[in-house]
Amino acid sequence: MSARILVVDDVPANVKLLEARLSAEYFDVMTASNGTEALAICARAECDIILLDVMMPDIDGFEVCRRLKTDPATHHIPVVMVTALDSPADRNRGLEAGADDFLTKPVSDVVLIARVRSLTRLKMMTDELRMRAITSLEIGMQAPERTAVADTGKGGRILLVDDRQSSYERLSALLAAEHTVDVEPNPTEALFHAAEGNYDLLIVSLDLNNFDGLRLCSQARSLERTRHVPILAIAEAENSTRLLRGLEIGVNDYLLRPIDKNELLARARTQIRRRRYTDHLRDNVQNSIEMAITDALTGLHNRRYMESHLATLAEQASTRGKPLALMILDIDYFKSINDNYGHDAGDDVLREFAVRVRKSIRGIDLACRYGGEEFVIVMPETDLHVAGMVAERLRRSIAGEPFAVHKGTKRIEVTISIGLTTLEQKGEPVADVLKRADTALYRAKHDGRNRVVSQAA
Ligand code: GH3
Ligand code: MG
Ligand code: MG
Repeated sequence: MSARILVVDDVPANVKLLEARLSAEYFDVMTASNGTEALAICARAECDIILLDVMMPDIDGFEVCRRLKTDPATHHIPVVMVTALDSPADRNRGLEAGADDFLTKPVSDVVLIARVRSLTRLKMMTDELRMRAITSLEIGMQAPERTAVADTGKGGRILLVDDRQSSYERLSALLAAEHTVDVEPNPTEALFHAAEGNYDLLIVSLDLNNFDGLRLCSQARSLERTRHVPILAIAEAENSTRLLRGLEIGVNDYLLRPIDKNELLARARTQIRRRRYTDHLRDNVQNSIEMAITDALTGLHNRRYMESHLATLAEQASTRGKPLALMILDIDYFKSINDNYGHDAGDDVLREFAVRVRKSIRGIDLACRYGGEEFVIVMPETDLHVAGMVAERLRRSIAGEPFAVHKGTKRIEVTISIGLTTLEQKGEPVADVLKRADTALYRAKHDGRNRVVSQAA
């Protein structure tokens, strides 16, 4: 995990100090002595995390941060403001500018390394998602960056785990100005509550009575349904060992009591915004996976997916000694449907055909569009006799009811021919099975169409 850290400070001695500490931990360190230089390095995507001094002569740190966070190309790079000032007002200025974290000079070694490590993990995960989501951008889906830059971070769903009434009443009142807040005063219920509630943020007090708040955080990290929900910890006082432990196990950020209202709101917004962004990226990845295996016109699986999945199904059938049936369906005289009613009518027929196919098969059957007007259905645990009945039912469901085209203004008769076969017991190549089904289909066409021809293995 050799992350590239950019240290920006106009005082060379400060740069040297941070550079030495980070290099000792094997981070790759780059340096810049002013805002303009820093922005250029970020624009070239050369760094993973930025440690940014606030007071600099040309453009100050707040402004550099604001520019990075409003540019879709750089907004995902974590920014840590390194500041000599530690007044709430300055922290809030930084948070408003979109800073992910703060370090106060003189910077403590342990805190520095812990924060940089935790942000590195986050950056690596985001990069991985971004990289995979690129494919979906290329095929014209909405850029998550544009949404993320515009997101205010407000309107989140927050679960606050805190067993001290005076504390949770105050905190939930503050948060309610921008979010929907649920309070869970019972830590033993908290994990269940968090898993059920679809929250954007968990805020966990680490000073619970007879309960280890960190344990709750680590459980939330390992549970599938809460794994990606950010955690903001609240601690009584700087107990750096415990806070560092928290950051190691996946707590995203922390606040110390007494809690400043604006800082609480700003940190909550940062976490919620980041959560929405990564969710969005994850959805895009999911969509692009689905698009890669789905035929866009009919919503059935595409040929590529069928070919890879068929091999798996055939192998399973062989090892378990179960039958596997496969049929190829081809619409009769489809070319003349296009010729007589137009290509759009042809598309309507294909879509409706897919709807009827889906209604006639089971969930475990695999239906795919194999080519233009050719389809393949694979049926696990089905012998030739049963498959023959399914095929016949399908044939009737097509021929028995005309297809509506041109928005329902016209109805046309459609028929299909089906070639059917089964997998030979014990490891026959799937290409041979497909070939045999195709031969059966050819016979169905030759014998007059609108019929099913079975070919035993
Ligand atoms: P047969 O009964 O022998 O199967 O005759 P056919 O006309 O159905 O078969 P042929 O293979 O000659 O023609 C298939 C036609 O399907 C040709 C092609 O233009 C059309 N086609 C392929 N894909 C699509 C599509 O996505 N939409 C539409 N509308 N037509 C398509
Ligand atoms: Mg055809
Ligand atoms: Mg054809």
